[in-house]
Amino acid sequence: MSFAYSEDFIEQVRFNNDIIDIISDYTRLEHSGKSYKGLCPFHDENTPSFFVNPEQQLYYCFGCGVGGDIFNFIMGVEGIDFRETVKLLADKAGLSLPEHKDNPQAKKKFDKRKKLMHIHELATRFYNYLLTSSDIGKKGNKYFNQRGFGNNIIQEFQLGFAPDRWEGLYRFLKNKGYSDQLLLESGLILPRKNNAGYYDRFRNRVIFTICNHQGQVIGFGGRIIEDINQPKYLNSPDTLIFDKSKNLYGLNLAKKFIQQSNEAIIVEGYTDVITAYQYGIKNVVASLGTSLTSEQAKLLKRYANTVYIAYDSDTAGAKATLRGLDILKEEGLEVKVIILPKDLDPDEFIKAEGKEGFARSQSQAETLIDFKISNILKGRSLENVDDKIKAVKGIIPVLAKVKNKVELDEYCKKISERLRTSEGVLRKEIDKYKFKMRGQDRKNKYRNNINNKSELADALNDPKLIKYLKAIKELLSIVFKNPNLINRLRAQLKIDALAKEEHKELFTKIFEFYQEHNALEINQILQTITNNNAKNLLLELSIRDNDFLDDTEKTISDYIETIKGYQREMRIERLNAEIKEAQKSGDFTRQMELMKEVQFLRKEGN
Ligand SMILES: [Zn+2]
Repeated sequence: MSFAYSEDFIEQVRFNNDIIDIISDYTRLEHSGKSYKGLCPFHDENTPSFFVNPEQQLYYCFGCGVGGDIFNFIMGVEGIDFRETVKLLADKAGLSLPEHKDNPQAKKKFDKRKKLMHIHELATRFYNYLLTSSDIGKKGNKYFNQRGFGNNIIQEFQLGFAPDRWEGLYRFLKNKGYSDQLLLESGLILPRKNNAGYYDRFRNRVIFTICNHQGQVIGFGGRIIEDINQPKYLNSPDTLIFDKSKNLYGLNLAKKFIQQSNEAIIVEGYTDVITAYQYGIKNVVASLGTSLTSEQAKLLKRYANTVYIAYDSDTAGAKATLRGLDILKEEGLEVKVIILPKDLDPDEFIKAEGKEGFARSQSQAETLIDFKISNILKGRSLENVDDKIKAVKGIIPVLAKVKNKVELDEYCKKISERLRTSEGVLRKEIDKYKFKMRGQDRKNKYRNNINNKSELADALNDPKLIKYLKAIKELLSIVFKNPNLINRLRAQLKIDALAKEEHKELFTKIFEFYQEHNALEINQILQTITNNNAKNLLLELSIRDNDFLDDTEKTISDYIETIKGYQREMRIERLNAEIKEAQKSGDFTRQMELMKEVQFLRKEGN
């Protein structure tokens, strides 16, 4: 992004918005002490663990660990980037954007976007006019009628026809006064290869008009209807206004229905969307040819919690598709797969079976896990031992991801019956796999992630670590209440020896801030922090109600002791590992040195 808003403007936007107002648009907030609380808009929950502190203008969720200020709230909940967020919030506060006054480059880009949108608007009218009102478009009209699309649908989806001419659209747009350069950037025309001049990208094709979720035309898809030597579908390239990975075909019309039903159906093709819509299934969108992206997932997450995939069975089972489905899941959507009878795509199926037939398949949709499992089992003969082993090997990682115990029990039972293996063997394999993964995870994830509190406790079952983390957190709370404790902490804690990077950064930044300002401001310290875990920890602290904080002298020195003790033990653990190394390499002197140090540390601990 070439243009960034000035810090002044961002602060102005922050100042003119109130976090309580902003968040109240997404979840109902109630007073709770000095804070407000409500159901978290970022994860499913029945009892509120989402807190907003109006004084600090910060939020934090104890359930899923998200937190921050109005900017990252809007980014997360709307799935848009920082720039768009500033725009949106400036708009809410009635502030005019500085980019046009202050930044000629941004103004240029803004103007160009507007012009490209207008070019697409004109092209839509051009294609649509030819389809509906001219002899040239008759064959296109015939094609759509054969597919069962009536006039209303043609208008609603702004369908069109691109003539069998080299310069049809090009001349039309030139006559409207657009430069060759801009038309090139629209992606609708191409430079001639050998001679000077330009020609239309879409020729002799029926046209599907692609809109963004706000309903502005941003691109086209063209399908051949007679020349079989051409690729069947041709799409606009990515341009300044069109990014395939960030849009979904049909979302402009479907979003209302997706929101109402809290469900979206994703299909592959333009005609699948249109047929479904015509038959009254209106919460349907199409991925634009690529495998699903996290941007698309975020876009859907704004409107629904559940996503149904209705691809043809080959596409659905493909690796790229499965990865896309995992992305949907990772963004917090519930994913289900509709299995259509062999060789039918949704378009054909809906025409044959109607809305009711489709609803029936939808009600029988498989969960993502079920679908992955049947996909693994597909085409394997379970009489064959090798096949059976391969099947189990494929299924174990899928099952290992099932967190719910009851659910896992059910799957194990079902699969052991199907594979005719014992349930016990299956479980053992799952445990082995989990253990292996945990070993890997433990090193790089859990020890470095303070926010997965419950996960961490389960996974590590390490009461000492839990106690240490608690001591750090409590001590930080106490420091924010009584900043003059800082000098004592500085004298007693070795920052470099803290077990986690986030704590090192946090204490360092707090000390620095105090030294400079002789006071502590969570809000300002937050802006100097780079480590995400440190940020979240600070946010969590900002939300805490400190009225009943235990900050007696005994408690404080206990916490300090706990931290020092844990540091000592970590050090001993490391030394022991080094001792083993020295033993292996036969370095006796080194071994003795290390052992002495361990002894010394042990003594210090008693
Ligand atoms: Zn949450």
